[in-house]
Amino acid sequence: MAGSGTEQPFVIAGGGIGGLAAAVALARKGFAVRVLEQSSEFREVGAGIQLGPNIFRALDKLGLRNAVLADAWQPGALEMRDALDGHLVTRMPLNTDVFATRFGEPYAVTHRADIHGSILKAARDSNLISLETSRRVVDFEERGGGVGVTLDDGERVQGRALLGADGLWSRIRERILGDGAPRVSGHIAYRAVLRRADVPEDLWRPDVVLWAGPKTHLVHYPLRRGELFNLVAVFHSDRYEEGWNAEGDIGELMRCFQGQRPEVMRLLDKIETWRMWVLCDREPVKTWVRGRVALMGDAAHPMLQYLAQGAAMAVEDAVRIADEVERRPDDLAAAFAAYQDARYLRTGRVQLMARVYGEFYHARGVTAELRDRMLGARTPEQAYDGMAWLYGEAA
Ligand SMILES: Cc1cc2nc3c(=O)[nH]c(=O)nc-3n(C[C@H](O)[C@H](O)[C@H](O)COP(=O)(O)OP(=O)(O)OC[C@H]3O[C@@H](n4cnc5c(N)ncnc54)[C@H](O)[C@@H]3O)c2cc1C
Repeated sequence: MAGSGTEQPFVIAGGGIGGLAAAVALARKGFAVRVLEQSSEFREVGAGIQLGPNIFRALDKLGLRNAVLADAWQPGALEMRDALDGHLVTRMPLNTDVFATRFGEPYAVTHRADIHGSILKAARDSNLISLETSRRVVDFEERGGGVGVTLDDGERVQGRALLGADGLWSRIRERILGDGAPRVSGHIAYRAVLRRADVPEDLWRPDVVLWAGPKTHLVHYPLRRGELFNLVAVFHSDRYEEGWNAEGDIGELMRCFQGQRPEVMRLLDKIETWRMWVLCDREPVKTWVRGRVALMGDAAHPMLQYLAQGAAMAVEDAVRIADEVERRPDDLAAAFAAYQDARYLRTGRVQLMARVYGEFYHARGVTAELRDRMLGARTPEQAYDGMAWLYGEAA
């Protein structure tokens, strides 16, 4: 173990999936950590999340692979259908023997609260991690051999280093980069979770199914060992509301999906209340670090969700940070710089490719025709080749 546990703790601003994963990763190397979360409790919003093989490789390093898999659902395929005429655009088999041999880890879908809960439990079980709620970080200053962190009530917290895991609207990023608000994509996601019993039998599918329409798409998949069913409807809109939990306007949603396949319209009709997200991202940068302060997760590289990789990138960040800190415990500025150098091209590629996938999902006319030809012509092996840069190969 690299840390003696007696030095000042690492301070982490934000207790989402990224911040908690970093806390667990550092504690596993023997370092003490304080997680400061602005909310009154550690929690995730009620929605699903897809987990590619790469996140399981990272979770395995935290000892959390099996705990996360235990609550998850392993779909049989990623399927894309045209939302207007229903034709199959492409189907990538998942969790087959060939998939397992290629990537060495499964593809799963889970409830955000379940993956967050597994990481939170590991953090609670560690006597090196202090979890603190209603603690909003507003500023920091490097001083002496550490970092002084200021909270919104004026209290000062001293740490050996600070990780900004404070998400899309990161305060720490504002202080390091000052690059203003995130880019509003003009896409909005509405989400809802149904009990399996409330999904008409002929509409329930074991796979991740994406209905691609002009300027819209609907994704659905089972959650929590198949007991729940997750729906995410995305469309173009000028609406802007900060946060992850505003209530959606059903009238606007129905207008955008009007005329689509009965399967789509019947599923949308089942939902009484939608929560909404305004989707934002940023251009990739490589200035996430200032001395002993580093950004991670959405604070460093916020991305659109079209590759379903934001949480995976945050957990990969966490693992890498802990590895670099273990290598250079006495030079944390160098450790953080090494972490950034190892990560910015990979995360930047996901940020940019996610935009491309968004264009594909919402295409119409000739672009949709081209998409159908490009994606539809692939064999499963070619589809796996296309994802290997992201999912990684079996060791
Ligand atoms: C519609 C949608 C679908 C998605 N689907 C997927 C998917 O399928 N797969 C996937 O891997 N990713 C997906 N993502 C992305 C994923 O949700 C995020 O990338 C991931 O949650 C980022 O984690 P994080 O810990 O970096 O940030 P967050 O989850 O935003 O956590 C930040 C935390 O910091 C706290 N905080 C903020 N400011 C402060 C402060 N000043 N002081 C203290 N605490 C603070 C917040 O309260 C919060 O708890 C999706 C995103 C969206 C919007």
